[in-house]
Amino acid sequence: MSDEIRAWFPFYPADWLLSPTVRGMSLEARGLYLELLCWQWRDGSIPQDVSAICAVTGGSPEVASECLRAFPSVNGRCRKNKRLEGIREEQKSKRAKRVAAGRLGGLKSKQGASNAEASPNQQKESERKKEGVPSAGTNTAQVTYQCEVCKQDVVGFVAFAKHQDTHRGTGV
Ligand SMILES: [Zn+2]
Repeated sequence: MSDEIRAWFPFYPADWLLSPTVRGMSLEARGLYLELLCWQWRDGSIPQDVSAICAVTGGSPEVASECLRAFPSVNGRCRKNKRLEGIREEQKSKRAKRVAAGRLGGLKSKQGASNAEASPNQQKESERKKEGVPSAGTNTAQVTYQCEVCKQDVVGFVAFAKHQDTHRGTGV
């Protein structure tokens, strides 16, 4: 897991406060529950053994037994809260999308075209065309991008983005 993802996780206060599982716990068990979520986020899971959990957290077996229902055993080897792992998957896919977007932006600037204010630039470009003024040569529509998936050369950033869409979900 990347450090960026490991650093924090989304927490939904309203869900927590209204959860029947949480409300059914003592205040001490709620504290341990939260601590174990943090632990799982950092390490990917928490120990199977209640004694190990108590040793690290300082909790009592009685308190641990109150919240371990929220951490079902995985193959008898460790425990995981399922919702937290779902949140981790969401964070991973969001990050992958940001990385993909950043890669496109990086290609763009490598070709000498400005990332900033794409639409005002396009507007200027169409004004130039109208007036017959030659382009300064930084028009992103003329930049050629090579697709990392099929190695095809695609001219123009928008066309390239559309081209990449054709690979999405197909795994090809
Ligand atoms: Zn391609």
